[in-house]
Amino acid sequence: MREFDYRRADDVSGAVALLGADPDARYLGGGTNLVDLMKTGVERPARIVDVRALPLDRIEPAGDGGLRIGATVTNSDLAAHPGVRDRYPALTQAVLAGASGQLRNMATVGGNLLQRTRCGYFTDVTKPCNKRAPGSGCPAVEGEHRNHAVLGASEHCVAVHPSDMGVALTAFDAVVSYETADGPGELPLADFYLPVGDTPHRETALPPGALITGVTLPPAPVAARSRYRKVRERASYAFAIGSVAGALDVSGGVVRDVRLALGAVASRPWRARAAERVLTGAPATAEYFAAAADAELAAARPLPDNGHKVTLMRNLVVSVLSELAEEAAR
Ligand SMILES: Cc1cc2nc3c(=O)[nH]c(=O)nc-3n(C[C@H](O)[C@H](O)[C@H](O)COP(=O)(O)OP(=O)(O)OC[C@H]3O[C@@H](n4cnc5c(N)ncnc54)[C@H](O)[C@@H]3O)c2cc1C
Ligand code: SF4
Repeated sequence: MREFDYRRADDVSGAVALLGADPDARYLGGGTNLVDLMKTGVERPARIVDVRALPLDRIEPAGDGGLRIGATVTNSDLAAHPGVRDRYPALTQAVLAGASGQLRNMATVGGNLLQRTRCGYFTDVTKPCNKRAPGSGCPAVEGEHRNHAVLGASEHCVAVHPSDMGVALTAFDAVVSYETADGPGELPLADFYLPVGDTPHRETALPPGALITGVTLPPAPVAARSRYRKVRERASYAFAIGSVAGALDVSGGVVRDVRLALGAVASRPWRARAAERVLTGAPATAEYFAAAADAELAAARPLPDNGHKVTLMRNLVVSVLSELAEEAAR
């Protein structure tokens, strides 16, 4: 591992100043992703700014029933918070579906959103990879891509974003707050991750040196009836092959409001807006749920070895929405 300078920040402006404009410096949250990548040489920061002592570890009410979640809140504390469990249950389920208890005790909200892809070529520094070494190529397109993207990818990168938490936050229109030397800013999660295009190494719209300070969940009554379902190779301690965060408000058998986001299918958590449009005002039946999934997945461009993901996602959408509709009818 390359030698690095370690600093611990006590306040937000101090953290931003310590990082400065140095492209070789990194913030350290729980370290559960960054430190692993440093050990393998994927990340080689010259300076680490530890943000865990910052006063960003609280979850507070925001607006009319929304929540403001500090960037250093741990995954465990987020999942256990009564306001999250009651008002955004899919978020609790998504967080608990990720990693392990020990990792969730360390991992932070900011770090979870910025964790890097698990593509095996990205994490192996002996291989080419456009995301790690721009212009070197993408061996996954013709190589190992069973778990790679079916939506929104490009020939330059077909990796997926690994976060479970991010899928639920995307379904609920979360907004990311950040701080830079020029002052604070905000980005809706929908605009936070950049399209892949020919610059897969540029992952987010955060300005250089930005410190994530928190995430705001706007009030969303529909989220109270929500669910996260994740398919993975093992029952625990495994990343998603596909996942769905869904929320449904049904009245008189008709969909009044719906939120749907898909995980492990694209370089970002994927908001299923085409599916939402099909469903709003439609009968809450399996037939319409399938039509909605088809509308979203019409844009899928699977690779030779990951076509199964399209079928998987269709089935997941139908099962999650059917369960929510049944619950609403009780
Ligand atoms: C074995 C294993 C299994 C896992 N399984 C899952 C899973 O199933 N689902 C899932 O979603 N995740 C999973 N994870 C990933 C885990 O959730 C992430 O490693 C974790 O959320 C990252 O949070 P962290 O605070 O440790 O981030 P760090 O490792 O500290 O940082 C990650 C990145 O974020 C940056 N960063 C951190 N905080 C900030 C901030 N406030 N502002 C700006 N930049 C910041 C860092 O510079 C770094 O680039 C798994 C991890 C492991 C090791
Ligand atoms: S899919 Fe993306 S991360 Fe994986 S090898 Fe290709 S460029 Fe790299």
